[in-house]
Amino acid sequence: MSDTEMKKIILPSNISVRALAEKIEASPIEVIKVLMANGVMASINQNIDFDTAAVVASELGFEPELEKRLEEEPEEKGEIPFWRRVIARENEKDLVARPPVVTILGHVDHGKTTLLDAIRQTNVAAGEKGGITQHIGAYQIEHKGKKITFMDTPGHAAFTSMRARGAQGADIVILVVAADDGVMPQTREAANHAKAARVPIVVALNKMDLATANPELVKRQLAEIDLVPDEWDGDTMIVPVSAIKKQGLDDLLEAILLTADQIDIRANPKGEVLGTVVEGELDRFRGVLATLLLQNGTVKMGDTVLAGKAYGKIKAMFDYRGNRISKAGPSTPIVIMGLNEVPNAGDLFRVVASEKDARSIVAEIESGERTFTRPTKVTLEDLFEKMQAGETQELRLIIKADVQGSLEPITSSLHELGDQHPEVSIVILHQEIGNISESDVMLATASDAIVIGFAVEADNAAERLAEKEGVSIRLYTVIYHLLEDVEKAIKGMLKPEMVERVIGKANVLATFSVSRFKVAAGCRVISGEIRRNGHMRVIRDGKVIFDGEIASLKREKDDVREVREGFECGVALKNFHAFEVGDLLECYIFEKDAA
Ligand code: GDP
Repeated sequence: MSDTEMKKIILPSNISVRALAEKIEASPIEVIKVLMANGVMASINQNIDFDTAAVVASELGFEPELEKRLEEEPEEKGEIPFWRRVIARENEKDLVARPPVVTILGHVDHGKTTLLDAIRQTNVAAGEKGGITQHIGAYQIEHKGKKITFMDTPGHAAFTSMRARGAQGADIVILVVAADDGVMPQTREAANHAKAARVPIVVALNKMDLATANPELVKRQLAEIDLVPDEWDGDTMIVPVSAIKKQGLDDLLEAILLTADQIDIRANPKGEVLGTVVEGELDRFRGVLATLLLQNGTVKMGDTVLAGKAYGKIKAMFDYRGNRISKAGPSTPIVIMGLNEVPNAGDLFRVVASEKDARSIVAEIESGERTFTRPTKVTLEDLFEKMQAGETQELRLIIKADVQGSLEPITSSLHELGDQHPEVSIVILHQEIGNISESDVMLATASDAIVIGFAVEADNAAERLAEKEGVSIRLYTVIYHLLEDVEKAIKGMLKPEMVERVIGKANVLATFSVSRFKVAAGCRVISGEIRRNGHMRVIRDGKVIFDGEIASLKREKDDVREVREGFECGVALKNFHAFEVGDLLECYIFEKDAA
């Protein structure tokens, strides 16, 4: 078969012979024959790894490609929530419009819950309430024939990270501001979260029924935080409402639909199944109930769901009204029964092939070999590297200072610095006077920002959270030092002195092809160790003929993180396949200079 006829096929990192046969529309016997011809004895139910499956697939006329797994691309790139990037990968022609997902944020007591309930009561048609009757954290309404999904993010008094994640899961944020109280700290935080997640904001100016309401003052306050009312030629819609009197709700829904029209809200109902956990609970009668918001693909009864580290086959599925359903598409909130433990709100969920797959992924997450949600946050030291790798063009900062008099020169000098360096845009997400608090770190976590403190310190709680989330906090007392560090970071000069250290050597004993174009080397480690995350040089006749990254490291058929002296292993490199028997491999890492 010629190359032009080769069909692309996506294969997981592990697949049974039977499943592979189905995928490539061959009989299992054919597959087993090809495996045998390649020296692999496998039974029909046995799992084979991607490399092996790829050999079979390419021999049978397919061009195999390794399935991208969620956790290979965690939310670490900041800006765009992961699920939106998945949708961006879908084929344009498969995308269809889906209802916008809206979440309500705002300062405590400004009326979030009341507003959410008011919209629910006036717009949700009472359902039959079949299997389940409970208030769930998400619902869908219809306004002028168009659906809107509302998502509640639990957590009442404090601004929790769940609300931060809520902004990440939504297409539009309604920012509730009480007209008698105005812009308050959590209003600012909520606005920052929405901006960080690049989610448009519609302001609901609530409590307009009160005599003390002062909408003009509140609009001025909103303009100060960059939410300039459209009536003042800004681009923020500000809708006066009274949640308690149920007034202005239609205007609010109208504003949401208008905003939705301006952004691309689509998904692929046939694509990768992916979504967010809205809430989870343990019900005395029904076991674990999880409310999920589906962002892409279609979930069906009997699918195996992996949500964070909880997994299980869907035993029953309900819509937000409690009606039993058998499948659900994008932007639909659902409640499922069948997970083995309660998932965390904000976790991603997806559908996997089997419970066995789910278990092995969970085991890898637990052993630390695979990261599911663990973020690797940006630091000033690695900014340049991330810029070079195309992962970021933004340096996002949260700045806390002792007095206004120091805040202003800091931000204006940073803006100047940004103007001098067009390769990166310096974005100041939030600036305020006062110590670094937990909520600053929370914002940094959600938006992949660095927290800078000038002549202030970090609260204990802030420090603990920063440590847990890997957020970088930098404290300064001299403005010049701060600017100098940022400038060095942009130029890639702020690296801690990194030195290269050779950690192991191996001899190439054999070469074998792992797919049509890829060749791996069978080696023996002759000194030290070879590490999966190290770099590798290929040395032939005393000359370095390649220097680059390791693509895979295996012992027998298993992927491993390191192989020590005396052991044999299989090594594949990125962009190098010309191994020859007798080549010397030298593995090295970079580490901080001890001196
Ligand atoms: P949340 O903390 O933002 O969820 O706020 P709640 O929805 O719990 O509301 C806080 C308080 O404000 C409650 O006592 C509500 O009854 C009251 N409230 C909410 N909306 C309105 C409104 O439109 N007008 C008036 N007068 N009170 C309201």
